[in-house]
Amino acid sequence: MNQIDWDTLTFSLTPAKSMFISHWEKDTFWTDGKLIPFGDISMSPAAGVLNYGQGIFEGMKAYRTTKKRIVLFRPDKNIERATLSAERLCIPVVHSDLFMDGLFKVVKDNVDFIPPSDKGSLYIRPIIWGTGPVLGVAPAQSYTFLIYVSPVGPYFKSGIRCLNLRVTNKFHRAAPRGVGNFKTIGNYAASLYPQKLAKSAGFDEVIYLNAGNENFIEEVGSANLFIVKDNVITTPPLTGSILPGVTRDSVIHIARDILNMKVEERSIPLEELMGADEVFCTGTAVSVTPIGQITSDDAVGIIHKNQIGKITQTLNIELTSIQKELKDDPFDWLIQV
Ligand SMILES: *Cc1c(COP(=O)(O)O)cnc(C)c1O
Repeated sequence: MNQIDWDTLTFSLTPAKSMFISHWEKDTFWTDGKLIPFGDISMSPAAGVLNYGQGIFEGMKAYRTTKKRIVLFRPDKNIERATLSAERLCIPVVHSDLFMDGLFKVVKDNVDFIPPSDKGSLYIRPIIWGTGPVLGVAPAQSYTFLIYVSPVGPYFKSGIRCLNLRVTNKFHRAAPRGVGNFKTIGNYAASLYPQKLAKSAGFDEVIYLNAGNENFIEEVGSANLFIVKDNVITTPPLTGSILPGVTRDSVIHIARDILNMKVEERSIPLEELMGADEVFCTGTAVSVTPIGQITSDDAVGIIHKNQIGKITQTLNIELTSIQKELKDDPFDWLIQV
């Protein structure tokens, strides 16, 4: 029934069969939810999400494993994060039972859209929006929880390759005590312009500095940042303006508990980034991706040209081996669908 060419999949939307939807009203709270065909939805032009950005999202994946199972990777972490994001934007929290039920239903119903184990995965996009009309700035009176899915291939076309990033001091991604640690939709609208400028200058993405202290690095537009120096792995701490990535947390566990490496969470000055042995970024979409070159206003740091650093590669292999069941899952991260 579907004629998806698994070999040419990229990280882009391929419409699937169905999506899960639930509504919240003041008196009835969240409905049980149901599957409906993937397609357009309608809402008032005065919807809170459209006028004041009252919306949050999540990003996760279902994998077809080499043991012929279909699994979710640490969905509890995404649900926990969605809860915090929702609370911050005055969105009613979706209980984890409803969230898991929606995930299971939508993945099962779209099983034909999950690529073979070695070709990609099913990207899952839960969203929670204020869809009721508001005119004055206030929380909406009704909400929509929706989960849609799309088969995806590698985030970067040529498979794994070293990224060429630009450090920007012209824009900040998130402010101290702002909403940078939540997956609120507005954060991403604000990142489009810096990303566009970097791309038109030949870079893949932007590295943001800490808005409270520009000596320190923060993260990439939609991925967390790590450096390796003398076999020690370091990443900036979660002090409020960095998105707490599930992949970030997983890489820290793998490095400490499987590879017996030292991992530090502390502020990283820009000079330390430029002088690192290896630099990589992490995220559900990008997995563990090496960074080969970094340009700031006054320096170009060549970390490793077109050759993936050893530790970056090991972490990438360890993570994907757990996700695809090529190795044991010592942390019990996989949930079978
Ligand atoms: C989603 C996201 C990440 C990565 O989080 P994962 O849970 O690992 O996918 C990192 N930074 C930002 C800004 C993000 O939005």
